[in-house]
Amino acid sequence: MTTPDDSTSRHFVREIIENDIKAGKHGGKVVTRFPPEPNGYLHIGHAKSICMNFGLAADFGGRCHLRFDDTNPETEDVEYVESIQQDIRWLGFDWDKHLHYASDYYEQLYQFAIQLIQAGKAYVCALSSEEFKTCRGVPTAPGKESPWRNRAIAENLDLFKRMRAGEFAEGQYVLRAKIDMTSPNLHLRDPVIYRINKTPHHRTGAQWPIYPMYDFAHCLSDSIEGITHSICTLEFEVHRPLYDWILDQLKAPCHPQQIEFARLNLTYTVMSKRKLQELVVAKVVSGWDDPRMPTLAGMRRRGYTSEGIREFCHRVGVTKVNSLSDFALLEHCIRDNLNKSALRVMGVLNPLRVVIDNYPEGQEETFTAQNNPEDPRTANAAGAGTRQIPFSRELFIEREDFMEDPPKKFFRLAPGREVRLRNACFIKCVHVVKDPATGKIVELHCTYDPLTRGGNAPDGRKVKATLHWVSAAHALEAEVRLYDRLFTKENPADESDGTDFKKHLNPDSLKTITACVEPSLKNAQPGSRYQFERIGYFCVDPGSTEAKLIFNRTITLQDIWTKIQAAATKKIDGR
Ligand code: ATP
Ligand code: MG
Repeated sequence: MTTPDDSTSRHFVREIIENDIKAGKHGGKVVTRFPPEPNGYLHIGHAKSICMNFGLAADFGGRCHLRFDDTNPETEDVEYVESIQQDIRWLGFDWDKHLHYASDYYEQLYQFAIQLIQAGKAYVCALSSEEFKTCRGVPTAPGKESPWRNRAIAENLDLFKRMRAGEFAEGQYVLRAKIDMTSPNLHLRDPVIYRINKTPHHRTGAQWPIYPMYDFAHCLSDSIEGITHSICTLEFEVHRPLYDWILDQLKAPCHPQQIEFARLNLTYTVMSKRKLQELVVAKVVSGWDDPRMPTLAGMRRRGYTSEGIREFCHRVGVTKVNSLSDFALLEHCIRDNLNKSALRVMGVLNPLRVVIDNYPEGQEETFTAQNNPEDPRTANAAGAGTRQIPFSRELFIEREDFMEDPPKKFFRLAPGREVRLRNACFIKCVHVVKDPATGKIVELHCTYDPLTRGGNAPDGRKVKATLHWVSAAHALEAEVRLYDRLFTKENPADESDGTDFKKHLNPDSLKTITACVEPSLKNAQPGSRYQFERIGYFCVDPGSTEAKLIFNRTITLQDIWTKIQAAATKKIDGR
């Protein structure tokens, strides 16, 4: 979790809040909010906003509200309301009793709109949406006033009340704020603040045939809730004058300060909910929680930890400049966290049978293996810190760990060569069996040295490789889903060259294989995470059962980020 005094945490938003507290603004209180629209699942970008809003509130002894910004009935759904709450809790944050909905304020917002009309600051306009756009114009030239701009207050009141009563068709009228058609800021050119929409709402049903626009609902919801700092992403900077204008006109008792920061973007993925939904609808992915999705639900299913995601959000920092963060940094944070927390097990993804010729048929024994060398106290069901793994005459090793004619730098198993089996003993390859038809290697014959039981030779001889393995008779079959990045292009969301982002999907983003895993995984519970030694981290899929184990590959063991950092340091040092 962020600590107020380390350097990444010292960002401009924190400074603004500190200064406000010093100046006694809002009585020194800090109240923030996270305001998702329930029209999709949360993604890693939202996580940054959640960490910031909930984190800052906690650091300053304030509170953070969860408010659903539910003013677009067509695109919103309770499925999203529920998933959003689940994801925020999973990430480690809590809104206590402050669960709010913009739709709770519909009546209040309606009364505010009436006040605005009464003050001569809003009017009912009958321009079509095309006419509205034409009249609004472009920033470099003044816009054109609506012919209804100077409608009498009484007439505006009457029409607006009839809009509310459902007397008119969608698109027939809108309510517009009366601000300035010559402003260089288009958002101030008499923006629409209410529209007619007959779609039933997931919370208010058919009660409201009119809905407030985001700009009207948002600032007033903030004010109603006594928000002190309304933190949002940079694209809202141009909306800020409107945010302030509305609150000033209505003499709102609480006038929060809107503060903008740069949204999080990640390489090799897209972050807009619209684009993510497109992938779901087109069935390019299996759903919002597909492990390749940048959604929190997808990342959770993939095995990412909430601690790792929070650390990532912390490390990318808070700035005013839009940029693309490196997916490798996120993976680095996840790997770092899993290294400390995940239990070690052995699993062979591409099995090659090994027969230990001098090990008696029918005999078996067990070896002791550590569950997590990073944390020896880590217990599993079998006992504290260690577990027993069965060994027998026939084993599986990774096909890639053997080469018949190895190049110089290949230190693993080869004919005549001795290697260590992890947690077990030394074996030496004495014979290679091939399929006569295809020439493919089907089996290796090895001998083991009984004196090396436990992993070391009493005569002190060394081996250059340690391989993972499973006992063939005891191994469990498991479906393993090997995930890779969803896109091949670094910034697929950039469609400036005219190609649709879906053109850059990685055709190899999912490969499903059947692997052999050690028997301790028999009852592996959905959601539990393991390191398959020498291979990577894996998470048990929610669909996994004892009868059919399913693992999702979370991440490999290769830390690209550390390499990137080392290369960057080298460059700076001129080495
Ligand atoms: P999207 O563009 O993905 O559809 P949105 O901004 O429409 O996102 P909201 O539900 O309105 O999604 O977002 C809730 C909050 O999360 C807002 O305050 C928004 O600024 C913030 N947010 C959304 N995307 C990001 C991001 N990539 N980085 C940081 N904050 C974000
Ligand atoms: Mg939005």
